[in-house]
Formats: sequence, structure tokens, C-alpha cells
Amino acid sequence: MLDHTLSDNELTAWDRDHFFHPSTHMAQHARGEMPNRIVTGGEGVYIVDRAGKRSLDAFAGLYCVNVGYGRKKITDAIAEQAAALPYYHAYVGHGSEPSIRLAKMIIDRAPAGMSRVFFGLSGSDANETNIKLVWYVNNVLGRPEKKKVISRWRGYHGSGLMSGSLTGLAAFHTLFDLPKPPILHTEAPYFFRRPDRSQDEEQFSQYCADKLEGMILSEGPDTIAAFIGEPVLGTGGIVPPPKGYWDRIQAVLAKYDILLIADEVITGFGRLGSMFGSDHYGMKPDLITIAKGLTSAYAPLSGVIVSEKVWRILERGSDEFGAIGHGWTYSSHPLCAAAGVANLEVVDEMDLVANARDVGAYFRKGLADAVGGHRHVGEVRGEGLLAAVEFVRDRDDRAFFDASEKVGPRVVARLLETGVIGRAMPQGDILGFAPPLCLTREEADIVVEATQKAVRDVLG
Ligand code: PMP
Repeated sequence: MLDHTLSDNELTAWDRDHFFHPSTHMAQHARGEMPNRIVTGGEGVYIVDRAGKRSLDAFAGLYCVNVGYGRKKITDAIAEQAAALPYYHAYVGHGSEPSIRLAKMIIDRAPAGMSRVFFGLSGSDANETNIKLVWYVNNVLGRPEKKKVISRWRGYHGSGLMSGSLTGLAAFHTLFDLPKPPILHTEAPYFFRRPDRSQDEEQFSQYCADKLEGMILSEGPDTIAAFIGEPVLGTGGIVPPPKGYWDRIQAVLAKYDILLIADEVITGFGRLGSMFGSDHYGMKPDLITIAKGLTSAYAPLSGVIVSEKVWRILERGSDEFGAIGHGWTYSSHPLCAAAGVANLEVVDEMDLVANARDVGAYFRKGLADAVGGHRHVGEVRGEGLLAAVEFVRDRDDRAFFDASEKVGPRVVARLLETGVIGRAMPQGDILGFAPPLCLTREEADIVVEATQKAVRDVLG
């Protein structure tokens, strides 16, 4: 139970003195210069804090509480599993019923050609698994030099050593000596910020594919093992791919026998209005990273979905070299798997994939109508229930505001004052939205109105 005997002052002091927060300015937090919101509950798309303030969470936590807060079916499933069997491992072929059921449910929903699921706990660890599997595969195939992995600038793939290297955002590299080899980064498919404004979407996609091919040829095709990308760039600015992008990228990968890893940590299980982003964009990945929407974050769970093609090579490896030396104590933790089964049932019962498509289109149109014409809005973009508003100093030359003006964070702060949570994306003045997939049109209207007001209050 929550201990409400602690005063706000005590909790805040303990928090400042003992809690090392992720992605937080440590000194400012310790000095008490940062908002110190302690969240206690949630229902539907709303959260409530200790002070009793209710906010519409239009970022679903961190793009993860897809079914919304307070879904009893999921909390009951976790409680029942905890009472029956809180934990048993999955090593050496062991299992628990919810993990097996969940693996089957994932493959039933996954793009064609997918075969097995390896479970982890976070998107980061799943991408560590991906890199290890890619290396393992090429070792089994007798081509140990084919190990480099190409990611994209502005991609986000986690903050571990290798997953953080895959990430293409400076904030996640600075002072950590990242990125590490053999990770390389190529052009982001960021049409709004394309270097040559005369290019149309197809031409820019071709430009990105040519850049990729140039990198492969200069590095040596025999050294490149895989390419990783989010179907829609997430933390790097919520950027849908320009037309024809994935077709052209896949043509290059096929030419040089390079595996495709689709990082669907955000896009998996409905966010784009399709069950998977890969299906949405005609991608045929060899490996898919999943997390967030798999359990709607009711419990931490991630996975790597392995294609039949990769699986066959893994099987061959174990026949030649023995059991795979990779796993986590908590791989397919029964409580998390029980949450996953119940969560995917809720996604189906509430028809949330269709809702993301319908309400997503309505929401993005509302945003575009409300702020798209503002003189400091360069672009309103998105797909499904992912949306972004990019602010510019000047619409014509698309110049950035000076970072010290903190335009994005100020809009987000103003938005919060009006009761709506958005996110200032970490690179550029970009306001991001990724609401729960159960968002209604009325709730979308609330977010749109609040955004219009916040933009007007901050930017005039
Ligand atoms: N991949 C993508 C596309 C993500 O958005 C994230 C998290 N935002 C991750 C990987 C890393 O997931 P986690 O924070 O659970 O490690």
C-alpha cells in the first residue's frame, strides 16, 4: 500500500538525497530546481499526482501505456500469476504457461515469416540481444568479418553500451565514450531537414539509400552484418519515413546480404494504426525489437522476434557449438508474461489498433489545423497516434531557435500547466505526442486546444 504518512517534504527530501533519476540533470535535481512530481495513480488517459493534480497523459508515460491506466484485467492477471508462481526461469527449455502463450500470441500478430520470440526486460537489452544474434549468425555462417551494424543519426535504440551506440543522438553518447565500433551511423530519413530543399520525398529517399550504399561500399560489403531502424523515428523527433524510403533501403540491404532489424519498441502492437510498423511500411525484417506496447508497461518486458530464416541458422549453430550462451535471469518473467497476455487481449477487445488509426488521423488533422499555420511552426507530422510539432525561428529558412531559448521545453511546461502532458523531444524544438491508443476524439480535442493555447502563450 502507498504510505501516505510520509509528508511531501520528507518524500521530496529523500528523493533529492537518494534517488538517482535517469535522463535527469543531476545537480539541478539535487538542488531542488526541477519539478518534483510524484505520480500516484491513473485512469484511462489521465494520471494523478500526490498533490491531487490530474493531467491528460498525451505521451502514455514514455510511449508505452498503450491501453491506458487502470486496466483491471491486466493488474488481476499479474496478481493471479504472482499468487500461483511468481517466478521460474526459462533456461534449458523451462517455461511458464503465460510465457508460452505470449510467444504464440506475438507470432500470431507478427509480420509474415516470423518464427520465435526471445524475451528480455527492456528495449535496450533486446537490442543488445539483436547485435549478439547478428554476430552469432555470421560466425555460424563462417564469415566472422561481417559484423558491422549500421544505424541512423537520430535513431533511438536504447542506452546500454551497444544499444546506446546504435542510438544516434549526441545526448546519449556524451561523456560515455560512445558510439563504440563496429556501429556506424548513416543519414536520418528526416525530410523536413533534408540538405537539398529541391528534393521531393522519393528523391530524398533515394538520396538516403545512396548514402547507405556509399557507406557499405566504402566499408566493404563483406564487413556489414545488419541495418537497424525504427519504422518511424521516435525519440529522434517523431519522423515518419519519406515515400519510398523503406523499399529503397531494403533493395540496398538485399543486394549486399545485410540483415534488417526493425526496432518496433514504439511502433509494435498498434501505435501506427497497424499491428506492426513493418507491415505498415512493407518492411520484411529479419529481427524485430519489441517492448513498451507488449505489456503497456504494466510490467517490464521486451523481446526479439526472430524470423524463420535467422532461426534456422541459430538452430544449426546449436547443433554445431552447443546451447546458446545468452540469457537473462528474468527472460520471460512469468509476472511480465501474464501482463503481456492480458494486455494483448485488451488491445483486441478494445480494438485499439483501429482506434489508433482513426483517432490518430483525427488528432493529427486537429493539430495541423490548430497550429500548422503558426509563424513559428515548421511542420506538424506523424502517423497513427504519434505526432510532432516542430518549431522554427523562421518558416522560410527553417532556422532553429537558439537552444538557450528552450522553446520546446517552455511549450511543454505551459501545456502541463493547462493539464496536458506532451514531451520536448531531446534534439531540436520538437513537441511530441504519443497518447494511449484508447484516446477518444473528445480527449484528442482537449490536447489540440491545450497545444494551441500553449503555442500562443509561448510564441505569440
Ligand atoms: N528502441 C526504441 C525505438 C525506443 O523508443 C526505446 C525507448 N524509448 C528503446 C529501444 C529502449 O527501450 P528501453 O528504454 O526499455 O531500454
